[in-house]
Amino acid sequence: MSQELYNRPASELSQMLARGEVSAVELMKSVAERTRQVEPRVHAFNSMDEADALAQAAASDQRRARAKATGSAVPALEGIPIGIKDVISVAGQPLTASSRMLENFVSPYDATVTGKLKAAGAICWGRLNLDEFAMGSSTENSAFGVTSNPWDLTRVPGGSSGGSAAAVAAGEAIASLGSDTGGSIRQPAALCNIVGLKPSYGRVSRYGLIAFASSLDQIGPFARSVEDAATVLEAISGHDPKDSTSLKLEVPHYARGMAELVKSGRKWKLGIPKEYFGEGLDPEVEASVQAAIGEYKKLGCEIHEVSLPHTKYAVGAYYIIATAECSSNLARFDGVRYGHRSKDAKDALDLYFKSRAEGFGPEVKRRIILGTYVLSSGYYDAYYLRAQKVRTLIRRDFLEAYKQVDAIVTPTSPTPAFKKGEKAANPLAMYLNDIYTIGVNLAGLPGISIPCGFTSSGLPIGLQIIGQPFRETELLAVARAYEERNTWRMQFPKL
Ligand code: GLN
Repeated sequence: MSQELYNRPASELSQMLARGEVSAVELMKSVAERTRQVEPRVHAFNSMDEADALAQAAASDQRRARAKATGSAVPALEGIPIGIKDVISVAGQPLTASSRMLENFVSPYDATVTGKLKAAGAICWGRLNLDEFAMGSSTENSAFGVTSNPWDLTRVPGGSSGGSAAAVAAGEAIASLGSDTGGSIRQPAALCNIVGLKPSYGRVSRYGLIAFASSLDQIGPFARSVEDAATVLEAISGHDPKDSTSLKLEVPHYARGMAELVKSGRKWKLGIPKEYFGEGLDPEVEASVQAAIGEYKKLGCEIHEVSLPHTKYAVGAYYIIATAECSSNLARFDGVRYGHRSKDAKDALDLYFKSRAEGFGPEVKRRIILGTYVLSSGYYDAYYLRAQKVRTLIRRDFLEAYKQVDAIVTPTSPTPAFKKGEKAANPLAMYLNDIYTIGVNLAGLPGISIPCGFTSSGLPIGLQIIGQPFRETELLAVARAYEERNTWRMQFPKL
């Protein structure tokens, strides 16, 4: 790994900042310069405001100097540039959801998570590309161009948080935030050789996140190490009176708790779900995941085969529940209150129709139509209610497995990064890509993807670890125990 500032983990940069070897302004300049070099090829950003980021960095340097003078503690993320998915509000910055609908929208307030990051001293840097309204697995559904996978520019970075993953992988941000409704943090992390964490549902406030499917959405970090993911998670977690689904639970010291657990050498009981290793799994992905399981065995962990029998219904149930919720959430984009407004509408009804027809892209329309259908009278019981029942069964499968094991280990994605255009014309093939990640959202569990090797052609492979509800510290410790034993995360794409 070369010794540039922009490709180091936050934990290392934080120490350099503390020792005064580098300033937050120098770090931000390094990241901005790197971004200028590679962004024309990667296109991870929808927009960026370098002057604003440098002003935030200068303010960070001042805070640090003041803290030094008074001997007060400096938070771990002080001065660290963190990219933000363009579906999470940052006051005064554009917020587009990669949709024509919000092309000219500027966020009037901070999301709770961005407010918390700023309070922790981090620099909110740029607006990162995604599939329109977070609907997709490749970032090809963005209205503002496709993001490229930094490991192979002809391939997709995954999605929907493809920009958030590509930016960290390419050295355009030190860490980033994404949102995960059915895998949108874990899958792009896997395809880009970085760490991506989806917290338990209710761990992190969704206030200021543009809602896709509210019962599944959760914000989480992308980072270059499990420790960095833990640090960002700690900064953004906690109850928020503005989001009644965020739980009133104390926020643990994730990074410290994780390190203590790893040091204790705890022998984890790990479950391998047989349903996740069948047809459709790429042999090279399978081999890498099996090798990772072998590493856990060497650590003295107990490996148990477990069964999640309702896995086969997960994709179906997800695409009913997620589309139902999105059809309702996206009703607010009506051309009246905010967002795109058609210029040639004859009357009010025509205004709704035309504004929505012009503002939404094809995948968003497909989902609104599907969602409206499954909620319509006569079909509600057959589809939506049934899918909710399946959801309960899926959660029960996991809770049953957790009577026997501490965590569950699986591939994150059945294949490595696919070519741009390869699945774009086939929604079903695209949806099936989420097979290993969506059960976690349906069950509300925390899940992490960490690097676990490369294919023979040099494409990254991710390992998914699924934890018990609100047991992120243990989940991180299981991830770290493996991470410690390899150097996958230290490989950097040649750009
Ligand atoms: N790929 C899934 C979908 O298209 C998940 C997206 C997400 O997690 N936001 O719905």
